[in-house]
Amino acid sequence: MNHAAAEWHRLLDFDRRHVWHPYTSMAKPGPVYPVVRTEGCQIHLADGTVLIDGMSSWWCAIHGYNVPRINAAIADQVARMAHVMFGGLTHEPAVRLAEKLCALVPSPLEVAFFADSGSVAVEVALKMAVQYWEGRGIAARKRFLTIRGGYHGDTFGAMSVCDPDTGMHGLFRGYLPSQVFAAAPTVPFHGTWQPSDLDSVTALLAAHHATIAAVILEPIVQGAGGMRFYHPEYLRGVRRLCEQWEVLLIADEIATGFGRTGRMFACDWAGVVPDILCLGKALTGGYMSLGATLTSRAIAETIAPGAGQALMHGPTFMGNPLTCAAANASLELLLESPWQQRVARLESQLRQELAPCAALPAVRDVRVLGAIGVIEFHDPPDVHALTRAGITQGVWLRPFGRTLYTMPPLVISPEELRRITAVMCELAAGRH
Ligand SMILES: *Cc1c(COP(=O)(O)O)cnc(C)c1O
Repeated sequence: MNHAAAEWHRLLDFDRRHVWHPYTSMAKPGPVYPVVRTEGCQIHLADGTVLIDGMSSWWCAIHGYNVPRINAAIADQVARMAHVMFGGLTHEPAVRLAEKLCALVPSPLEVAFFADSGSVAVEVALKMAVQYWEGRGIAARKRFLTIRGGYHGDTFGAMSVCDPDTGMHGLFRGYLPSQVFAAAPTVPFHGTWQPSDLDSVTALLAAHHATIAAVILEPIVQGAGGMRFYHPEYLRGVRRLCEQWEVLLIADEIATGFGRTGRMFACDWAGVVPDILCLGKALTGGYMSLGATLTSRAIAETIAPGAGQALMHGPTFMGNPLTCAAANASLELLLESPWQQRVARLESQLRQELAPCAALPAVRDVRVLGAIGVIEFHDPPDVHALTRAGITQGVWLRPFGRTLYTMPPLVISPEELRRITAVMCELAAGRH
């Protein structure tokens, strides 16, 4: 064993015994693969293996890795100011980012709160909704209605609106606030709309609206809850019901925002404008953790209508200048790029190349929307075996639940994507 390999052996051993990875047991940790470099759409492992990235690092790295423009923006910012507190102070990167976001989101959304992550952006959205009704003197509205099959993050408020069965409700029962769950949408994005899909939300809002602060949902794409794409009429119907019962609508676009579904925001598919919008993941192009929660001036001013009143949130690293500089560069890159054509090209390639998998015996469904390609199995696959098989084929894929999916960087080449889809089909066929 050479020196580098021996050192990696030692580091991996320490990792296994002392470092917690996402959703893992320290008693029985799963395999982890050491990465030494990322470049373009490639992940370089310590043993020299080069992987084509099918995951965009959990859907964030839309421009790929080691992006000169974002690197330069961060280097330029770090030389001047890595961080300064946001309480009572402000700086150009944060104000410029707010300017960009306000120009990008539909009216009347025009007030931005910078949060440290997606989960925190959701927590802030929930707080905004509760404080909005407090501000209106209607204290009874403190619960949330959501749809089954959702995922909104791992902090407690966010967890309470995740799917109650596949989420973590059982484990934390007694500690989590209890929310109202409507049936998940069943009509798929490209399906024939059936108004009865809204029956559950309709009935629950009629029964509970007086105690509901807001409806929170992922528009069009239910991501980590199962990778399902639902019909735009469903979203339009929920928006209508929210207006009817005067309940706020929170759209969690943390996974769908910034072009992933083929529109800048998934709400655009339905022409719906939420009252509160959560952003995250691709906001910094996958460089750093940043979330944003946007709302209208009317809601913002109801939350804290006077001096001495406040939206009660303010994390230590709020509006971090490096993070905002990365987000500014990422948004400029996105808006200057032909992202819509790119996503359309990825969508048609994914559709064409994944279609043959639908005939495989293990496969229950194949679906594609924008730059998201999903193979759903009848039974959950062995995550570690499938991940390892992908690596031996030169592709980074991380299945979850019953799905093997890809959300590649939007800049991926047709050849690289072809490799990903070929490996997905091969894994689905069980030929590994
Ligand atoms: C990933 C995700 C979150 C949580 O974001 P974190 O940055 O992991 O806290 C919330 N909502 C949706 C829809 C997500 O996909």
